[in-house]
Amino acid sequence: MDKASLTRYIKETVLAAGFDACGIAPVAPLTAETRRLKQWLAAGYQADMSYMERYTDKRENPALLLNNAQSVVVMLLNYKPPAMQPPDAPKIASYAYVRNYHHVIHHTLKNICATVVKEYPDVRLRGFVDTGPVLEKAWAVRAGLGWIGKNTLLVSPVFGSYTFIAELLVAVALDYDTSVAGSRCGSCRRCLDACPGGALDAYRLDANRCISYHNKRKGDNGVDIRPWCFGCDCCQRVCPWNAATPAHRHDGWTIPEIVGFTADDWLGLDEEAFNRIFAQSVLRETGFVKLQSNWNVCSGKQP
Ligand code: SF4
Ligand code: SF4
Repeated sequence: MDKASLTRYIKETVLAAGFDACGIAPVAPLTAETRRLKQWLAAGYQADMSYMERYTDKRENPALLLNNAQSVVVMLLNYKPPAMQPPDAPKIASYAYVRNYHHVIHHTLKNICATVVKEYPDVRLRGFVDTGPVLEKAWAVRAGLGWIGKNTLLVSPVFGSYTFIAELLVAVALDYDTSVAGSRCGSCRRCLDACPGGALDAYRLDANRCISYHNKRKGDNGVDIRPWCFGCDCCQRVCPWNAATPAHRHDGWTIPEIVGFTADDWLGLDEEAFNRIFAQSVLRETGFVKLQSNWNVCSGKQP
C-alpha cells in the first residue's frame, strides 16, 4: 500500500464529504494531556459530568479503541452562522443553529469509512464525534489544525473556534502533519473577561460556573443563565481569531426558525410545535420543559 497515495485519498475524501480542514497525527500516548485531565477532574471542575472520569486509559491511548491504531485523522467542520438571531430573541449558542451535528457527522463518517475501504479494502478505520473517549482537541493540535485557547476551545488560524471536531482512527501508518507548538493567544484575555459566569481561568474551565453547562441541565441550578437560553457563545464572540472567519457553506443546514423566531415566537411555542420544528436539533435533547423555563427566565417572565 502506497502511504502517500492513501494519505492523499483519505484527505481528499474527508474534504469532499464536506469537512473544512483535515490533519493527521501519529498515535502516541497523550501522557501530559491525560495528567492535566486527571488534575482537572480531581479539582471537581467537571461538575456532574461523571462520564469524563471514565475510560481515562482509552483517552490516553487510542490504540485501546482500535487494535493496532497508528494514525489519527482529525477533521474540522466550520459551523459559524451566516445569519444571527434577532437581538431580542432568547439567545441560542451558534452550534445549535444547525441540525444536530452528532447525527450529521456520524452519518458522514460512515460514508467516509465506506469510501476508503472500497478503494483500500485492507484498511481498518473507526470514526468518533464527541461521544467517544477521545481527547479531540489534543489530537487536533497534534494534527496541526490549531491550538487550545485560553477559552479551552480549539482555535484554528483559518476557522477560529466555531468548529466541530471529528476523528478517524486508522490502523495503518500515514504521512503526518506538523503539530502546532504552544498557544497564539499571547497577552489577549478577552474570553476570560467576557465570561459571565467567571468560569474561565487561562486554559481552564470550571463547569460548575459555566452557563452553557447549566442551561442544559435539569432543574434550577442557582446560576444566572441570562441572556443565554441554550449554551453560551460569550467566550467565542469576543475572540479576535473569530472576527474574520468565513461562515459555514452548507445550504439547508441551518434550522430556519432559529434565526427567524422573534422573542414572541419563542414565548408562544407549545411542546407539540417545539418537538416538530426542532426534531433534528440539539435543542430537542434538552427538551421543551427546560427550554421553556430558560426562555421565561431570559425574557424576565420568571426570576
Ligand atoms: S460558555 Fe459562557 S459561561 Fe461557559 S466558559 Fe464560555 S463564556 Fe463562560
Ligand atoms: S479571546 Fe484571546 S485569549 Fe481567548 S481564546 Fe481568543 S485569542 Fe485566546
